Amino acid sequence: VKAAETMESKRRRPQHHANGKGSEAVEKSAQWGRAWEVDWFSLIGVVSLLCFAPFIVFYFVMACDQYECSISQPLLELCQGKATLLSIWARAPSFTWTAAKIYAIWVSFQVFLYVCIPDVTHKFIPGYVGGVQDGARTPAGFINKYEINGLQCWIITHALWFANANYFHWFSPTIIFDNWIPLLWCTNILGYAVSTFAFVKAYLFPTNAEDCKFTGNIFYNYMMGIEFNPRIGKWFDFKLFFNGRPGIVAWTLINLSYMAKQQELYGHVTNSMILVNVLQGIYVLDFFWNEAWYLKTIDICHDHFGWYLGWGDCVWLPYLYTLQGLYLVYHPVQLSDAHALAVLLLGLVGYYIFRSTNHQKDLFRRTEGACSIWRRKPTYIECSYLSADGRSHRSKLLTSGFWGVARHFNYTGDLMGSLAYCAACGFGHILPYFYIVYMTILLVHRCVRDEHRCSSKYGKDWRRYTDTVPYRLIPGLF
Ligand code: NDP
Repeated sequence: VKAAETMESKRRRPQHHANGKGSEAVEKSAQWGRAWEVDWFSLIGVVSLLCFAPFIVFYFVMACDQYECSISQPLLELCQGKATLLSIWARAPSFTWTAAKIYAIWVSFQVFLYVCIPDVTHKFIPGYVGGVQDGARTPAGFINKYEINGLQCWIITHALWFANANYFHWFSPTIIFDNWIPLLWCTNILGYAVSTFAFVKAYLFPTNAEDCKFTGNIFYNYMMGIEFNPRIGKWFDFKLFFNGRPGIVAWTLINLSYMAKQQELYGHVTNSMILVNVLQGIYVLDFFWNEAWYLKTIDICHDHFGWYLGWGDCVWLPYLYTLQGLYLVYHPVQLSDAHALAVLLLGLVGYYIFRSTNHQKDLFRRTEGACSIWRRKPTYIECSYLSADGRSHRSKLLTSGFWGVARHFNYTGDLMGSLAYCAACGFGHILPYFYIVYMTILLVHRCVRDEHRCSSKYGKDWRRYTDTVPYRLIPGLF
């Protein structure tokens, strides 16, 4: 209780470092959080992403809409002078008020489900952890509470979707596909609005000033975020909401809409479309089933909330994570049984590795090592670290199970699953393979970023760990 009171009193007297120059004590002891200084390489990366990422999304969607998913054809036509950037732009469907209404209803409905309907599913689904849960300790030493009701939101949303498709017929199940490009403008408006709001809020009324980080570089601050856990009121947590909903709840609906479109256009649904729906459906359901675990992942524990998360969750995720289904609407691939089986196996084995690895770490951390991993007592390295308030804490790094095979074997499983989604589309075009290329870059970069942070956090203890488990993703290779 005393510790909670101390936290609470700390919360009530925030030290606002709005000029970007936080107290030195805070700076020195919080070195393991996000960077305080920006090197030129990071700055160039940040500015390039800010400028080009929206066009990358537009390029892929437009390539499907105008060039049947060929990503080389638009470039060829540009080089040969058959098209200009302006003519391609002019042919793309523009913003419509219909799309704006659909999107406004969608986002408002997800806000309503998140804020107004506390979780009840944990009361009757055995083994599911929902309701109010603690997050991890922030660099400033706080532990935030979260309302975990993502699974419930997903179930309600999908039940309504199926009820509409089979009974009410308020709207067509192809509604998402039919408004896909006009919706892109709406998602961009929300993505930029929320990132800009979070940026301004960090200066004017931060939720927790001790966990804000100002690098002095406006582009980096805008992109990587200043506030750690921005909130409105007690429960509306930006990171939890935007990361999971509207983007990830929408993921499975978008795929269902593609499936409905295939049925409408060709009179049947291909096995590749079913595979993509099933494999990505498992991934999405896993995310919501484990939403409480998600509070302990890098997105929530370490990343600040800026354009990277805000715009990324609103635009990048729903548009580029669903490219396989979009491709299959334009190219209805029917796979041979052997090919389909191989894709299914790759996807399931990848998922098994991804989930088991994450589960082992979660179990190990929750029980503080008093558990069994691969039927043995776990082995681990004892570590210590300092939080921003100067207090010392202890932690453990697991070195057995999948965590003894490689330092990020969960990423390896994730990559196998991602490859399976792509391979489900056959080998006719490279567009559906963008996902595996992107995930490889994302997870390798994440791995390096995370290890840099862990090394600053744990110092020599981290080196002992990397000596014991020398490889990151693939034993013997990387
Ligand atoms: P991890 O779940 O691997 O978390 C990394 C953290 O775990 C480290 O910062 C450290 O935190 C702790 N840790 C590291 N090594 C050990 C160890 N040996 N024993 C115990 N704790 C350890 O990473 P993410 O949060 O990035 O990923 C979670 C999952 O989400 C992954 O499976 C990933 O593939 C997936 N993911 C998917 C994305 C997508 O877009 N589809 C995007 C990002 C992630 P601490 O400071 O607590 O020690």
